[in-house]
Amino acid sequence: MAKTFTLTIQADVDPDFVKAAFDKTMRLIYVPPKISFYVIDHPNFCPIFVEDLPKEAKTEYKNLCQEEATSMSITWGRHDHILIHITPEEEYLKTNEKALIGTILHEVIHTKLGHMLDKKIYKDMHSSFNKFKKQLREIKYTDKQINDLFSAVSETAAYVLLDLYGNSDLIRRRLINYLVEDYSNLYKCKKRCIKPKLPSKHKKLDYAKGAFNYELSLLSVIIPFMRSSSPKAKKLVKHLEKNFESNVPEIAKKLKDLKIFSAKIIQARIL
Ligand SMILES: [Zn+2]
Repeated sequence: MAKTFTLTIQADVDPDFVKAAFDKTMRLIYVPPKISFYVIDHPNFCPIFVEDLPKEAKTEYKNLCQEEATSMSITWGRHDHILIHITPEEEYLKTNEKALIGTILHEVIHTKLGHMLDKKIYKDMHSSFNKFKKQLREIKYTDKQINDLFSAVSETAAYVLLDLYGNSDLIRRRLINYLVEDYSNLYKCKKRCIKPKLPSKHKKLDYAKGAFNYELSLLSVIIPFMRSSSPKAKKLVKHLEKNFESNVPEIAKKLKDLKIFSAKIIQARIL
């Protein structure tokens, strides 16, 4: 079969192991022909990914790659670029093939869902915010404070929605086991689960921003798996609720109905 992608590796990992995981992923999901993959394990290696991007995208993605140290997928023109950034918390990706396939699938599905969705999400979010803002005016915060809160939370919310749609799509394609393997390792607690660093509760708006963003990121994992019949997925959801959502009990409680409602909608789409 003709090779449909290019792969550049700059990480302390067995390249044959990585190549095998990519080859297996290509058999699980269709990948468009013009796609470049990069695997790195340190922000110092961001340039190998950034140098192939068009000039106008270089600075933005260089900063993003170095500051966020996260895997990402970018579509520029008709070419897709996917970066798998293995952070110290994700060392397991260097030996656990199933989890690595889960990460690659997650990034590939982002390019498949496309950036039209991206635009739609922002448009919907802004129109609902404008309705919501009228109610917020009655509270003592200034317009600037409310706008800042919205932009901080909405950016995470948009990423969460993209992850939610992507993960649900992969579950619909019966690829749930790879995702569960990845997330179960990512959220594994060695001796004790790490608590999030949140601003003091006295700084109400700052705390709300931090806690909302934390809970929203958990929801992109919890919601697609909530109604799954897979025992491993059920175990992961329980673990996340007990050891992670419990760090932001007020926000988790407020979003509980939304969580249950979203899980139902997603299950209806999956079946
Ligand atoms: Zn994602």
